[in-house]
Amino acid sequence: MSILRVLVVEDEPKIASFVKRGLEEEGYAVDVAGDGESALDYAQSAQYDILILDIMLPKRDGVSVCQELRRRGFRAPILMLTARDAVDDRVEGLDAGADDYLVKPFAFKELLARMRALLRRPREVGPTRLQVGDLTLDTATRRAERRGRVIDLTLREYALLEFLMRHKGQVLSRTQIAEHVWNFDFYSESNIVDVYIRYLRLKIDANWEPKLIHTVRGVGYKIDG
Ligand code: CA
Repeated sequence: MSILRVLVVEDEPKIASFVKRGLEEEGYAVDVAGDGESALDYAQSAQYDILILDIMLPKRDGVSVCQELRRRGFRAPILMLTARDAVDDRVEGLDAGADDYLVKPFAFKELLARMRALLRRPREVGPTRLQVGDLTLDTATRRAERRGRVIDLTLREYALLEFLMRHKGQVLSRTQIAEHVWNFDFYSESNIVDVYIRYLRLKIDANWEPKLIHTVRGVGYKIDG
């Protein structure tokens, strides 16, 4: 296996060097960027396998860096670091296109475990065109259409819809959804899955018949046409 490249975006020198040293000992190649602007420069100039991105950064904060990277088509997993243990911040980060987050202070072992989980995650697998009833989703272009009408989705709504559609007809529990779409056990502390199902219903079901997203009481959700 080739050496994995990591970009660590962190302005606190002590944390940055601690993470860099630890990851290098684990065999990763590590670059460090100290602010949001240089993070964008680094990400543009080299191929990284994963990004570790602090939220509180000089010049440009981590959420905005994350949004900009995803806008530019950056596809590697992004792990956010946050000092603030507030659900709002996490939702904001994840909504901006991050794959997971870690609250500071964290144990180095935990960082490694999260990174390994993200690097293991299959990307771009399976068919590129998913269909449920008259709803189609092109996973290459991330375009959703119902009866030919394009539906605008945020990154998280898209991820949720793709996950449901890949499991058409199967009942998925909130925990399964949270783990796959947010990559961690978010549900235990929030109703994020229900919130996003509601957003998605407004976009793909509210103005259409038949309804495609179904609530299965006491279990979770499924999509079926
Ligand atoms: Ca910081």
